[in-house]
Amino acid sequence: MSESAGRPSDPRADDSHSHGIGCAEVIAEVWTLLDGECTPEAKERLRQHLEACPGCFQHYGIEERLKALIATKCTGEKAPEGLKERLRLEIRRTTIIRGGE
Ligand SMILES: [Zn+2]
Repeated sequence: MSESAGRPSDPRADDSHSHGIGCAEVIAEVWTLLDGECTPEAKERLRQHLEACPGCFQHYGIEERLKALIATKCTGEKAPEGLKERLRLEIRRTTIIRGGE
């Protein structure tokens, strides 16, 4: 059994929302974004989820930082390392807690 380094296993338990994609999938998208890819599709999914599920990213404590990341990343600018690292740490901490059930 090998744990993939850096990326948390996909917690599929949280698909209670019927709109769009589930929260767990959105978090997976954020990881992709942190790793350097920003496709228009990913950006749109994240934006839609922020609007449709306002409590979601607040729950993760990353809403403002995620908006900032999208705003920089998806316009072709480099996201500041500090922002990326902070976001990465917070997502990891939260997904580890949530994945432990
Ligand atoms: Zn959500």
